[in-house]
Amino acid sequence: MTTHPHPLPENATISCEVCQKEIPLSEANRFEAEDYVAHFCGLECFSTWKQRSEVQKRQDKKS
Ligand SMILES: [Zn+2]
Repeated sequence: MTTHPHPLPENATISCEVCQKEIPLSEANRFEAEDYVAHFCGLECFSTWKQRSEVQKRQDKKS
């Protein structure tokens, strides 16, 4: 018989929006938009993602 003393693990992980690395939820950098939440392993990935989304916005306007 297997018991599960911690059905909701405190060390839950999510993957970084940019590099897909698994990171503890408690250590993730979190960005919240109006209808969107993104997680990042660090500020480096956050700025990479931010630059990328700004480029996408510019491309959307052109088309
Ligand atoms: Zn990352």
